[in-house]
Amino acid sequence: MAIATVNPATGETLKTFDALNAGEIEDRLVRAEQAFQIHRTTSFARRTELLLKAADLLEADQDGIARTMTTEMGKPLVQARAEAAKCVKTMRWYARNAEGLLADEHPDPADVGDSGAMRAVVRYRPLGPVLAVMPWNFPLWQVVRFAAPALMAGNTGLLKHASNVPQTALYLEELFRRAGYPEGCFETLLVGSGAVEEILRDPRVAAATLTGSEPAGRSVASIAGDEVKKTVLELGGSDPFVVLPSADLDKAAKVAVTARVQNNGQSCIAAKRFIVHNDVYDAFSERFTERMAALTVGDPMDENTDVGPLSSEQGRSDLEELVDDAVHQGATALCGGRRPPEHRAGWFYEPTVLAGITPTMRIHHEEAFGPVATLYRVADLDEAIELANDTPFGLSSNAWTRDPDEQARLARDIQAGGLYFNGMTASHPGLPFGGAKRSGYGRELSGHGIKEFCNMTTLWYG
Ligand code: NDP
Repeated sequence: MAIATVNPATGETLKTFDALNAGEIEDRLVRAEQAFQIHRTTSFARRTELLLKAADLLEADQDGIARTMTTEMGKPLVQARAEAAKCVKTMRWYARNAEGLLADEHPDPADVGDSGAMRAVVRYRPLGPVLAVMPWNFPLWQVVRFAAPALMAGNTGLLKHASNVPQTALYLEELFRRAGYPEGCFETLLVGSGAVEEILRDPRVAAATLTGSEPAGRSVASIAGDEVKKTVLELGGSDPFVVLPSADLDKAAKVAVTARVQNNGQSCIAAKRFIVHNDVYDAFSERFTERMAALTVGDPMDENTDVGPLSSEQGRSDLEELVDDAVHQGATALCGGRRPPEHRAGWFYEPTVLAGITPTMRIHHEEAFGPVATLYRVADLDEAIELANDTPFGLSSNAWTRDPDEQARLARDIQAGGLYFNGMTASHPGLPFGGAKRSGYGRELSGHGIKEFCNMTTLWYG
């Protein structure tokens, strides 16, 4: 894939970039290792100062970087601004909390027994340069979610961003440089995915994190496994959105639309499969479809746009294939199911609701990365749980019920890294985020996330 900014709203190539050559990659690896030797010994006070400075700079740049993101991958500008604001909040959260999260632990002498280790200490030390392979869908957030904790822990970061967001990738490198981080602390590697293996195998690279598709995750994890390097993977999702009779239906239908079409439907934690109890199916389906059909599709720079284009032509044709396969096998498009006729240029797709899904349809098991919802009718809670779990993925999930017994059953039985009752999935710096099954492993955010790239060291004083 060429490294280029191609505006998805018009299909126009705006800027192309050369990939780094072997010598340029080597220079950056040298710098990352040298910077690690400095950064790992800096105090938390200094790291806090640096990250707060980066947060202030990003806050000041909010509108400009939002426009860059919208130009590169097509998310509505309003959502791009919100993404930048969330990054600022998360940087400040880690700047304030990292020292406490990584404080030495003093095991209870009773647990240590008579080993004499009355002064044993568990200390969280950084690992080294961490390679971050990141996707285009939240081009700022996915990176900051990794970089803020990694830098606060004393690691350095090497970013291999998606090839369609090079300007956002370069902005991030520049942001950390302007904030005063030592050269090499956070570097962008403009390379294609073919270069990842050699970089990951380099002994100076300590670990890797990847957010993206399952094939990319499998490749990075197997190379890292071969090198015995730690990885965190955040892959796809096909989150269920279960609606039971006690739900506030109006609110559920309204939130369902946002949960499905946020980021033009290209979010790993978007609700994708809407599993609705028979007693409320017709009412929910009507309200949900009405709202989906009423969304404004158009120029993502326009503040009134709800849904912009998909990020790439390939992304749109992948989505079209999933919808066409379902319709050919008997699914009904209650709305959408096609490209909007008024947008000839750009990779737009109408918000779509599909009913009558069966397990032989590809969309039943695959991730629909665009504004397409599937609707299922179920007879009871057991069937809802069974269907919710009938997916290779397990990222997050949503359930609408006010019944405490139903909530307890769902909390026990839903196979996912998160379960949001009467609301939609949203990440928060203070809460762990990550998946089960083929959605990946490891956690980002919170204390759990910052510890993923630490060497948890036992210090024993005899
Ligand atoms: P990819 O997984 O291909 O891209 C994500 C990142 O991984 C990019 O930086 C990409 O680089 C890199 N990459 C791709 N293949 C490899 C590889 N074999 N080894 C190392 N790095 C690799 O996602 P796509 O953009 O192609 O989207 C495809 C599908 O993935 C989507 O339809 C969706 O289902 C899922 N996805 C999920 C995301 C999530 O948030 N969980 C985000 C994005 C996609 P390059 O751009 O240079 O190819």
